[in-house]
Amino acid sequence: FDRLDAVEASLDGSWDAVRSLLGGKGANLAGMTRLGIPVPPGFTVTTEACLAHLEAGNVPPDGMWDQVADALQAVEASTGKRFGDPSSPLLLSCRSGAKFSMPGMMDTVLNIGLNDETAKGLIALTGDEHFVMDSYRRLIQMFGSVVLGLRDDLFEHVLDEARAARGVATDAELTVEDLHGVVQAFRRIAVRFPTDPMEQLRMAVEAVFSSWNGKRAVDYRNAAGIAHDLGTAVNVQTMVFGNLGEDSATGVAMTRSGSTGAPGLEGDFLVNAQGEDVVSGTRATRPIEDLAELMPASYSQLETIARVLELHYRDMQDIEFTIEAGTLWLLQTRDGKRTARSAVRIAVDLATEDLITQAEALARVTPDQVDFFLHPQLDATSRAAAIADGRALATGLNVSPGAAVGVVAFDPDVAVTWAAEGRDVLLVRAETKPDDVHGMLAAKGILTTRGGRTSHAALVARQFGKPAVVGVAALDIDMTTHTATVATEHGEVVISEGDWLSLDGSSGEVFIGRLDTVVPDLSDEWLSTLLGWADEVRRLGIRANADYPVDAERARGYGAEGIGLCRTEHMFFQADRLPIMQRMITATTTADRRDALEELLPMQEGDFLGLLRAMDGLPVIIRLLDPPLHEFLPTHEELGSRITDAKIRLTAAGSLADVDELLGGLRADEDLDDRVRALQEANPMLGLRGVRLGLVHPEILRMQTRAIVQAACAAVTEGLDPRPEIMVPLVSHVGELRTAREIVEAEAAAVLAEHGVEVPIVIGTMVETPRAAITAGQLAGEADFLSFGTNDLTQMTFGISRDDAESGFLLEYLRTGVLADNPFGHLDPDGVGQLMEIAISGARAVKPDLAAGICGEHGGDPRSIAWCHEAGLDYVSCSPFRVPVARLAAAQAVL
Ligand code: ADP
Ligand code: MG
Ligand code: MG
Repeated sequence: FDRLDAVEASLDGSWDAVRSLLGGKGANLAGMTRLGIPVPPGFTVTTEACLAHLEAGNVPPDGMWDQVADALQAVEASTGKRFGDPSSPLLLSCRSGAKFSMPGMMDTVLNIGLNDETAKGLIALTGDEHFVMDSYRRLIQMFGSVVLGLRDDLFEHVLDEARAARGVATDAELTVEDLHGVVQAFRRIAVRFPTDPMEQLRMAVEAVFSSWNGKRAVDYRNAAGIAHDLGTAVNVQTMVFGNLGEDSATGVAMTRSGSTGAPGLEGDFLVNAQGEDVVSGTRATRPIEDLAELMPASYSQLETIARVLELHYRDMQDIEFTIEAGTLWLLQTRDGKRTARSAVRIAVDLATEDLITQAEALARVTPDQVDFFLHPQLDATSRAAAIADGRALATGLNVSPGAAVGVVAFDPDVAVTWAAEGRDVLLVRAETKPDDVHGMLAAKGILTTRGGRTSHAALVARQFGKPAVVGVAALDIDMTTHTATVATEHGEVVISEGDWLSLDGSSGEVFIGRLDTVVPDLSDEWLSTLLGWADEVRRLGIRANADYPVDAERARGYGAEGIGLCRTEHMFFQADRLPIMQRMITATTTADRRDALEELLPMQEGDFLGLLRAMDGLPVIIRLLDPPLHEFLPTHEELGSRITDAKIRLTAAGSLADVDELLGGLRADEDLDDRVRALQEANPMLGLRGVRLGLVHPEILRMQTRAIVQAACAAVTEGLDPRPEIMVPLVSHVGELRTAREIVEAEAAAVLAEHGVEVPIVIGTMVETPRAAITAGQLAGEADFLSFGTNDLTQMTFGISRDDAESGFLLEYLRTGVLADNPFGHLDPDGVGQLMEIAISGARAVKPDLAAGICGEHGGDPRSIAWCHEAGLDYVSCSPFRVPVARLAAAQAVL
């Protein structure tokens, strides 16, 4: 570990190359050594050696063992101990460590070098037979399961019996005689356990190499998106002992809170313990603050080291330490895993503390993490009701925020099966192991009955953004019956597999049944700061797709700079308007249609006024009616069964008045059915919709224009600054836009004249057919702005029906790799994107300053946002909840 300079020099000083070669753990052990931090001496067998070994069919590369022997000699020299020498035995750990951290996924063996002779020597040296025998049994157990592939429960069973025979609860309470018995029993289980220390080391190193291709490791890499061809390094390191008595301890800590980001050490430790005891959840850990009282000198040294590490790595660190008889040793450091909230706070705090720049802070938070702030929480009323009717089940540690509601699965395979059936599942386990990760990924949330903040369950949950509550000690799981029992104040409750539970990873609460969830507001002060920095950096404007004033207000609160798309038809679906809308559509004369439109006018005007108020001073793009009219009517099938129903009731009608009424309804339904059939089209998405509707029924166009302009006039009268922009949908030929524009302009001019008010009339068009994109130069002559409707544009460019494809063959395409990405999720740069580029350059050749934006679903997708930035669009428009995400993504596109 003390030759980092040489390694770095050989790799041209590239830290990334150092990490690739030595693995993250090895690189950082050497890094800490160079910083003067106490690290037990050791050396790293490189990932190159691992890859060569695996490639050659488990044959170590030439010279590897000679180099190991040399390195071992240097370690012996610096420790003054000798490997395998009973008079001064050196014990080693053999630790996996890949380039990217894969906590607990591969294997580690501790206490290598112990056999009957060295054990005796160590007893003589330390005078602590209990410690030595405890270490010895750990070696055989770890070696047995990791290297020899024996089942760990064989060993655990022996320990269970020993504890039972002695009548004690923990291994630490076993006597020296008990431990001798345990070692004997272990040796009988692990018959191939080698007594030669060198042989132990050799087999352990090769086992760690092989663990790179173990199932757990492969599954984890698939889930975390880590390449499979990196290999793992092996760190061979002098053992230090946290199990040497009451002035020894072992623990893990984060230099800042991994859940909230608050400054100060956060972690767990155990007195008189070794290795995995802390993370395995088998013993109750103590919070790191207790260490300040128990071992104040070590604690303050740990605080200093934490600061040194943060300054050096310029990030929050997750460290492993051991205190051996009062001496502190660091065993590992890495960038700490953290929740979204913690990531944001840490990035902002580090920039404020000048450890990183604001640009780095922006780059360190992912759009997904911003999205997480909008994750569901338990609804307060629903929670209060649950508490009131005694459905509060238990509490545990709140290790990964967000609410999760689902049916209980006690088995990860069950969780996977149920999730595949579309059920929401909570994985409930005593503790989780790397073997359970597939179930954790399938689950909506995770609950464990044991373990702490740094337990496997907590780490994995945080990394994958799964709400989790761990250490719910009140819950007692019985895996033979697949039930869990809890003694509550209302008596014993039995939870069976498949029962509904709700958990809150932010508070640690668990409830029986399905609670409602809500999306919280974005009032986090660090997030506001970060997004403020994003706003200073980004060039793209961010607007929202919003149809109702409440959405517009929310969007503005989230930082939207206007409305990029208001879909007017959504308003017509409201219960008070649908009947009028249907009358308008089914009208057989223009006069009847005008009557219905007359009734709709004030309603639309009210809607638009609400939007203009919410977005006072900002652009509000209102799209004219777009969908095929049959969408507002009942289907032929629905009407058919209504008609049949009425006919049956007619035969059974009691009075003449009843007959009259039923007949009236029947005739109305039959008339409606005629209209539905008349409007029926073979391809409605390519039929009478968009601008075509407005040209066939200009009175609809006029009514909508009137509503918009009257709303603007009203807003002006209120002293506001309305900026409505009228958008014509689904244009494919400039003739359509020209005609629509004439109608809109004439009506707008009439309204303005009536009101004697001046409001600029801005008219633009959507670009959502390939022909519109190709002829955007012509459209630009008639348009004040362009907006790409990438949902339709993608649909029409691919010739794929979005409504059907995403539940059909498109999934198959993605599964088999025919398509790498869902083009409705990420904008397709090669096809749709190229059309957009043609459109932008064509339009700007005519009008260099023509504003152009995007209002399809892609407007909220970070990858598509980056593309829009590069393509020179002026803004993206997305759903209100994506606005904060888009603000960050647009800033990251600049960086
Ligand atoms: P992982 O990558 O799964 O965290 P590690 O290699 O960090 O595996 O080993 C797990 C634990 O074993 C460490 O957290 C530490 O407690 C213990 N350990 C490893 N090496 C040593 C050592 N040289 N001395 C004492 N304890 C060790
Ligand atoms: Mg570790
Ligand atoms: Mg469209």
